[in-house]
Amino acid sequence: MYTEDDLIPLSALQHLLFCERQCALIHIEQVWQENLFTAQGRILHERADSGIIESRRDLRIESGVPLRSLRLGLIGKADVVEFHRVGIGEGTLWRPFPVEYKRGQPKKDNWDRVQLCAQAICLEEMLLVEVPEGALFYGKNRRRQEVRIDEELRRETEQAAARLHELVRSGKTPLARYEKKCKSCSLMTLCMPKVAGAAKSVNRYISQVLAE
Ligand code: SF4
Repeated sequence: MYTEDDLIPLSALQHLLFCERQCALIHIEQVWQENLFTAQGRILHERADSGIIESRRDLRIESGVPLRSLRLGLIGKADVVEFHRVGIGEGTLWRPFPVEYKRGQPKKDNWDRVQLCAQAICLEEMLLVEVPEGALFYGKNRRRQEVRIDEELRRETEQAAARLHELVRSGKTPLARYEKKCKSCSLMTLCMPKVAGAAKSVNRYISQVLAE
């Protein structure tokens, strides 16, 4: 179990799974630079984060729902959580169903599903209910993809959260390695992955340039 002081933004899971160096630059060195992809993502999230609450007979929809899990050591916000009515009368239960908005289209990697699963685990811990499913909504094709929060995905999410804490605790930024994904990375110009023996730390690099 983590404490309140250990909590890391839930969105860092995506950074970690995309590239550990990017994750370290953002969450250890506090470096951030927006590009077209991150700007589109931010606008999509702002729309989802309007705080509108919709209520129908068997469905309640809340946006910008605060999330926290001491088990995973994560804190964040769900774009949207639908609460589906299960059962009737005194046995009525409102089962949470997180919906995460993404720009672009479905990826073959599990990053988005891991982030959704972390949201589901937060909701389970906070509300003491089971969250067996959620959905990803993709801006590009405006399609909603339902996701089962199964054992395998939960294991992968727990491992990613543990690795995230290990990386942040180490305080060390991994060296850059140029790959195809670097082209879509918002930190490309700061990271400079093509430079041989890339600077271990952007801060150190910047201090070096300023000193010169
Ligand atoms: S440019 Fe490439 S190596 Fe550097 S942080 Fe981005 S993805 Fe990682």
